[in-house]
Amino acid sequence: MKHVSHWIDGARTGGDGRTAEIFNPATGAVSGRVALASVAEVDAAVGSAARAFPAWRDTSLAKRAQTLFRFRDLMDRHRDDLAALITAEHGKVHSDALGEVARGLEVVEFACGIPHLLKGGFSENVSTRVDSYSIRQPLGVVAGITPFNFPAMVPMWMFPVAIASGNAFILKPSEKDPSASLLMAELWAEAGLPDGVFNIVQGDKVAVDRLLEHPDVQAVSFVGSTPIARYVYETGTANGKRVQALGGAKNHMLVLPDADLDLVADSAVSAGFGSAGERCMAISVVLAVEPIGDELVEKIVSRVARLKVGPGDDPASEMGPLVTAAHRDKVASYLDLGVEEGAKMVVDGRETPVSGGRGSGFWLGPTVLDHVPANSRVHREEIFGPVLSIVRVKSFEEGLHLINTGEYGNGTAVFTNDGGAARRFQNEVEVGMIGVNVPIPVPMAYYSFGGWKSSLFGDTHVHGTEGVHFYTRGKVVTSRWLDPSHGGVNLGFPTNG
Ligand code: NAD
Repeated sequence: MKHVSHWIDGARTGGDGRTAEIFNPATGAVSGRVALASVAEVDAAVGSAARAFPAWRDTSLAKRAQTLFRFRDLMDRHRDDLAALITAEHGKVHSDALGEVARGLEVVEFACGIPHLLKGGFSENVSTRVDSYSIRQPLGVVAGITPFNFPAMVPMWMFPVAIASGNAFILKPSEKDPSASLLMAELWAEAGLPDGVFNIVQGDKVAVDRLLEHPDVQAVSFVGSTPIARYVYETGTANGKRVQALGGAKNHMLVLPDADLDLVADSAVSAGFGSAGERCMAISVVLAVEPIGDELVEKIVSRVARLKVGPGDDPASEMGPLVTAAHRDKVASYLDLGVEEGAKMVVDGRETPVSGGRGSGFWLGPTVLDHVPANSRVHREEIFGPVLSIVRVKSFEEGLHLINTGEYGNGTAVFTNDGGAARRFQNEVEVGMIGVNVPIPVPMAYYSFGGWKSSLFGDTHVHGTEGVHFYTRGKVVTSRWLDPSHGGVNLGFPTNG
């Protein structure tokens, strides 16, 4: 039985106190225990980071970038190991776990360019023989609190940029699948990152609350559900911290009658059921503009019937189990609710065969609900599982209105062959990340990732140049080297001369 500890000051440490169970979602068996940090353990991590910060801040850009390159190389060589840890604790299939490692690595590669990203501006002679220039400096100790659904990628949205920018970082991973974080910590150490620049506190609300109130933590990045994102934003900012808190999602795919329906069906099934729907950019609602609804549902159902559901470490599986029994039960509760609310059950995931048998695993197969009423809870609420709702609409305008009146604004997609409609959609839709004939429009590392409305609290998205901005603050220097001819007292406000 494994024991997943903290990583403080460059070593595995602690975890003698409270712990939580870690499950193998495919079997339902307990596979280990994870430490739940006490306030004292969080303080030890913050202390280690605070001690490491001054020397790391003063480490040359060239040396910081070289450390990033070495980390990138090690991560590349350990892709399979990371993916295996993710599959064992999250349940997603191995190929999908490899995909999240690849997308996280792209942020590491982006951060390797930190010397270029931190370049400031310089203006010569803003006044006679006076120069002005801007610089960006790291904040100090910064923290990241991450969700279960991407145990490697979401932390990598944060720490490569934070560390490359010269900060010391504390990660609080999800307690449901914490092992990938420890392997990444070991690879940082092997890459030569000084002890204390990257720390991990495993834990729950106790650890989160201490990070939010600790006076030495300057900034907090959070990704998770909307109620906790709101709480983290409000508590962190009330304690004077810079906070970016990404929340939940309910992503729609608007399908216009002129779209290629085979492409739409492939995309809806891939984006709805990949990772068992436990992706913040999953498509959970198809808005079918009539008259295409019947034909599209038929195409979706025929594809869903061929999906192979089974353990994530079986290469034949396309979809694995859900993360915990409680989450599986919560997702499954929406199936009866949907029917009560007037939807038609066209594929019931409770009946899906599971290769190797269900055993005590946390299984729920792909579910398709058709004719879902627009005002139903099934349509409005985040389900975060393999449930695809089809809502029939009469027009582009009706579909757009439903998206814009929803609580969330993370991702959305329009499927059409009409460039004018697509352009109007991307212009008028109130969502942060838009796909045009692309179902999961996750921005590349050099753009920034973030939603609108209840999908993000704060004003900076993660990674890309907004990430660099979040983890640094600006200074502008105005300098004059002594010139006797400009001496003399002048009480007037400085103006250009
Ligand atoms: P969660 O909100 O339950 O947990 C996220 C983090 O907060 C974890 O580290 C957890 O330990 C901590 N936490 C949980 N309850 C807490 C509390 N009461 N006080 C303080 N901290 C607490 O989210 P989850 O179930 O791990 O992840 C799924 C959610 O994350 C979904 O809502 C999904 O949409 C969202 N998500 C959003 C994005 C995005 O980019 N917007 C990306 C991935 C996941």
